[in-house]
Amino acid sequence: MYFKDHSFFKDHPQALRLHFYEDEFEIVNPLGAKRNKYKICAFYYTIGNISGKHRSKLSHIHLALLVRHSHLKECGLETILQPLITDLKMLSTEGFTICVDEVEHTVHAALATISCDNLSAHMIGRFSMSFNTGRICRFCMASHSEIQQHFCEDHFVIRTTKVHEYHINCVENNPESAALYGVYGNCTFDALPYFDVTQSLPPDVMHDLLEGVIPLVMNLVICKAHREKHITIYEINDELKNVKFGRNDKPNRPVPLAEKILRNSNIVGSASQKWCLFRLLPFLMAPHVPPGTPYWHVFLLCSEIIDLVMATNVRKDELAHLNLLIQEFLEMTTEVFGNVLTPKCHYLIHYPRLILMYGPLRPLWCMRYESKHQYFKNIASKCKNFVNITATLSNRHQMKQCWEFSSGRLLVDFEHSLSTSVSVPFSSLPGDLQNALEMNKSFTDVHFQDKVLQRVSAISVSSVKYELEDVFLCYGGGE
Ligand SMILES: [Zn+2]
Repeated sequence: MYFKDHSFFKDHPQALRLHFYEDEFEIVNPLGAKRNKYKICAFYYTIGNISGKHRSKLSHIHLALLVRHSHLKECGLETILQPLITDLKMLSTEGFTICVDEVEHTVHAALATISCDNLSAHMIGRFSMSFNTGRICRFCMASHSEIQQHFCEDHFVIRTTKVHEYHINCVENNPESAALYGVYGNCTFDALPYFDVTQSLPPDVMHDLLEGVIPLVMNLVICKAHREKHITIYEINDELKNVKFGRNDKPNRPVPLAEKILRNSNIVGSASQKWCLFRLLPFLMAPHVPPGTPYWHVFLLCSEIIDLVMATNVRKDELAHLNLLIQEFLEMTTEVFGNVLTPKCHYLIHYPRLILMYGPLRPLWCMRYESKHQYFKNIASKCKNFVNITATLSNRHQMKQCWEFSSGRLLVDFEHSLSTSVSVPFSSLPGDLQNALEMNKSFTDVHFQDKVLQRVSAISVSSVKYELEDVFLCYGGGE
């Protein structure tokens, strides 16, 4: 819907959709003495027209801009972004020419969305950057005091193009009204004629859910269960030790719960570890929680919301259900735990509308982009030369990208073994497996009996790694 109504993509449906991402990262030890000195601000982008399985590969995450954070502070975002804005303007007006079979084609491209954490999104969009007071939402006019009381989107004034224009005009005439509207001026990307700041900064499910709502709810539920003596955090840790993880899943193994979470400390771990713990929690806790316990109902509501929001396909009719779930979840959380809702919980109320607008939100999340930082951190630690480090990093990256893009297999499906492979005759496989393969409809034309197969313990098929003892959900949603 967003692209159907978009002022540029409506007229140029074949144009390349550029999904941008912004973040800051340290290339040296973030706890060391050089902290902040080598902090880098990065803009990456992917091309939305290619399929998701290719887009998730790091080679398809392109580098747009690297700048030392200290320079960004010194010169301001507007100056730093100027070359990027000029390029983007040219891409949408003149485009570029490619030659296929001796026929020239002009390809246009335009910025579609910018994904980032909420603080960066508010910095880029020039919204209020305080989340403890005043206007805390870039989607609506909610103020911090209201988010504990109202759980329905209809209650709030949505920031539409017109509403935002009005705010900008008011702020230009009277800068003191900025805090009143939570807007501090024009976004730098407004220089692009098709850019709309109220629509181009989608929510990021990684920061909002995996690093916001999920750890908050887990913290509340685990502490409540511990205090009510249904199950202690030590018992949860013991249960967690018994969970078997496949090799692929081992990096996601949750960090054991520390005692200090009972004293309002946060659950530690990466976003994937927190998500993994959240999905394991029903197996660890449910047998110990008496039926109908209100705090467990909050957990189940949250779990259902996460399943729907994280789904790669969402039906339109499920959005009405999602809306009700979110409302009930926020009401119940306040009822059971008091005023604990954070701005990230409030952003949930906009999700059904935003999913209708952008489609499933997961393809727009920051998760894959964050993996790209590691490449730059590795280069920086190996080259040991910090003179004009951003130039070194970008040159090295672009050279690698050129080499990767010279391959003819860039957008084809492929599989490669990640372990040694052993040839085995079909007849040596266990009887159950032989039957399962022969009965599988995908292989009706294959005569397995005279085949020699390759046995591997790990394989990558279209960027998805399969290893022994991994668990994959193949059919979800009951259809
Ligand atoms: Zn809002």
